[in-house]
Amino acid sequence: MLPERLNALHALAHNLWWSWDPEATRLWHDIDPLRFRVYHHNPVALLNDVERSRWDELAADPAFLDRLDGIARRFRAYLGASAWGTEHARGLMKHGVGYVSMEFGLHESLRLYSGGLGVLAGDHLRSASDLGIPLVGFSLLYRHGYFRQVIDDGRQLAAYPASNFERLPVKPCLGADGAIVEVRVPNGDREVIARVWQLDVGRCRLLLLDTEIDANHGEDRGLTHHLYGGDEKLRIRQEVLLGFGAVATARALGLDIGVWHLNEGHCAFVPVALVGEHTRDGDTFEDACAKVRQHCVFTTHTPVPAGHDRFHEPLVREVLGSWCDDVGLDAGDVVDLGRVSPGDHAETLCVTVVALRLAAASNGVSELHGHVSREMWTALWPEHSASEVPIGHVTNGVHAPYWTAPETQALFDEWLPGWRTRPWDPEVWARIEEVPDEALWDVRNRLRLRLVQLVATRGHREFDPNALTIGFARRFAPYKRGNLVFRDPLRLKRLLEEHDAQLVFSGKAHPRDEAGKEIVAEVVRVSETFDFRERVVLLTDYDMYVGRVVTSGADVWLNNPRRPHEASGTSGQKVVLNGGLNLSVLDGWWPEGFDGTNGWSIGDGQEWQDEPAQDVFDAESLYTTLEQQVVREWEDRDASGLPHTWLKRVRRSIATCAPKFTSDRMVRDYVLNMYLPHAR
Ligand SMILES: *Cc1c(COP(=O)(O)O)cnc(C)c1O
Repeated sequence: MLPERLNALHALAHNLWWSWDPEATRLWHDIDPLRFRVYHHNPVALLNDVERSRWDELAADPAFLDRLDGIARRFRAYLGASAWGTEHARGLMKHGVGYVSMEFGLHESLRLYSGGLGVLAGDHLRSASDLGIPLVGFSLLYRHGYFRQVIDDGRQLAAYPASNFERLPVKPCLGADGAIVEVRVPNGDREVIARVWQLDVGRCRLLLLDTEIDANHGEDRGLTHHLYGGDEKLRIRQEVLLGFGAVATARALGLDIGVWHLNEGHCAFVPVALVGEHTRDGDTFEDACAKVRQHCVFTTHTPVPAGHDRFHEPLVREVLGSWCDDVGLDAGDVVDLGRVSPGDHAETLCVTVVALRLAAASNGVSELHGHVSREMWTALWPEHSASEVPIGHVTNGVHAPYWTAPETQALFDEWLPGWRTRPWDPEVWARIEEVPDEALWDVRNRLRLRLVQLVATRGHREFDPNALTIGFARRFAPYKRGNLVFRDPLRLKRLLEEHDAQLVFSGKAHPRDEAGKEIVAEVVRVSETFDFRERVVLLTDYDMYVGRVVTSGADVWLNNPRRPHEASGTSGQKVVLNGGLNLSVLDGWWPEGFDGTNGWSIGDGQEWQDEPAQDVFDAESLYTTLEQQVVREWEDRDASGLPHTWLKRVRRSIATCAPKFTSDRMVRDYVLNMYLPHAR
C-alpha cells in the first residue's frame, strides 16, 4: 500500500509516458534499483511488491517528493499541451485514426512484439502522442507473448513465461455503462468473445483483446497466448480476431474512426469486417468495397513474396463461412479479394492482396521498398506499368526520446533547442556542428561504458570500455546474415586484435526458423572459441532494453542484409541519434541516408540472383571497408586522444540523418499524405 503522499505514482506507473522521460525512469529506478532491474523495469510490479517501510521512507524524503511532484506536474502538462497536430491535424479531430497492428513494441516488460515491425508500431504510437494526433491502437494482449531466449549447450531454446496482467500497466477497458467491454468475433459456427484491455501510451491508448475467459471454448482461450505461434489455422483465427475485434471494439466504445491504418497484412480482416457491415445494411458487395476503400490505408512491410501470410480457401470458408451467410456475403467473393487472379481456385487468399485491394492508399516503408513493392504487385494492376502501380512509400523512423540515452538527451537539450518538438527540421540538427569534440566524445565514452557493463553482467565477459565496439542486434532472420562477418575468421581475428575492436551481438531467431537458429548457434560457437572469446559476445534474450543499450553504446552498427530483403530496418536510425556510425549494405533506409560522409556502405547497391556470390562479394566489401576506412579513422587521434575525423563523421551522420529518420517525421508524413486525404 502506498502512503497517500505518493499517490501520484499510480498514475505515472499506468501510463507509459514515463518510459521516454529519463527523469521519471530514474525515479522508478531509485525506489528499488534491484527490483527495477529484475522486474524488467516494470513500475506496476514495483508498486505491488516494494515494502511499506520503503514507501514510508520515501514519503518522508523531501528530495524524493520534490522530484515526484516535478515529474507529476510535467506529466499533467504533457497530457494537456497543444502540439503540432493541434493545428495541422484538425481534420482528424472529429473522427480519429484507428491504427491496427499484430505486434506493438512498447516496453521490455510488455512482450507484445517480436522485432522491428512491433517496435515501429510502438514508435508510431509514441510519436502520435507527442504530436497530439487522435490515434487509437488496436492489437492482442498475448498472455505468453513472444518467447524469451535461453541458450543451452550452444543452442537457442524458447521459454514462454506467462504474464500476470495485474502486474502490467493495462487495465480493463470500461464502456459507458461501467462494465468491462467484451466483443464477439466470428470463428466458424461459434463466436469468440474477447475482453478489451486498455494501455495508456502518453495521450494515446492501445486497446488489446484477450480471449482467455471462461465463456470461451477451450481452444479459443488460447488464441491470445502466443505471438506468431501455431499453424495456418491458428494464424487465420488470430488475424480474424485482430481485424474483426478492432472494428467491434471501436463500435462497442462508440469510437468514430475516420481512417483505419492497417500496419502490415495481418490486419486485412479490418476492411473485410467493414465490408460486412455495409452488406448487412443492404449494400452490394461492390458498393460496400468502394465505401470501405475510401477510409482505409495500408502499409506493407515485406519485400519477399514468401513472407506474406496466405490461407487456403477451405480454411477461410471454415472460419468465415457462417459470418458471410449472416451478413449477405458470398464467401467466394471474400476469398477472391485476396487473389491476384479472382476465380482461380488454386490460389490462396493472400492478406496483403486483400489489404492492397481494400485500401485507398498503400505504401512501403522506404523508397527502395516502395519500388520493390510496385514491382512485386504489378499483376494486381494489369493496366499499369510497374512504375505506375499505386504503392508509394513513407520511410520508417524512430522515436527520438525513447531511443536516445539520458546522456545524449542532456547533450541535445543543451545544444539543439527544438530537437524534441521539431525533429524533422534540418536546422535543428545542423547545430550539432557547434558541439565541441570533447563534449561529443565524452557522451560516446559513457554510452560505450554502459554497454561494456551490460556485456559484463549479461555476457559474463570483460570487454574494453575504450575499444572500438561494433554492434549487431536484431532478429536472426537468415536474410540478415548475422554470420556474414565470420566468413573469414582469420581475417576477422587479425582485424579485431590488431585494432583493438570488439563485436557485440544480440538477437533471437523464430523458434521454427531452423536456419536462423543455426546462425545463433554459430555466433555462440565462435564467441566461445579461444580466438574470439575476449572480443565477440552474444547477449542472450534480446529485448527493447538490450536494444536501447546496444544501439546507444555501439560505435559502429553493422547491418548486412541481402539487398533488397530489408524493407527499411530501423536499428541503425537509433544508432545515428546516439552518435554511432552505420556500416551497412545499401538496403532499406540506408540508400536514403548514406551520402559518403556520414557512415559507410557495404557493397555497391547491386542486386544478385546468385546468393552465395552475393555473400562472397559483400563479405569482401565488409572486411575491406573495416580495414581500410573504419579502423583507420578510429585510430586517427590527436595528442589528447580525440578522434577528430571520426567525430566529424558522427556530426555529419546526425546532421544529415536525424531530421529524416525520426518517427515524428514519419507520423507527420502519414498524417499529411495518408490520413488527412482519406479521413471522413
Ligand atoms: C529497433 C529494433 C529492431 C529492428 O532492428 P532492424 O535492424 O531494423 O531489423 C528489432 N528488435 C528490437 C527489439 C528493436 O528495438
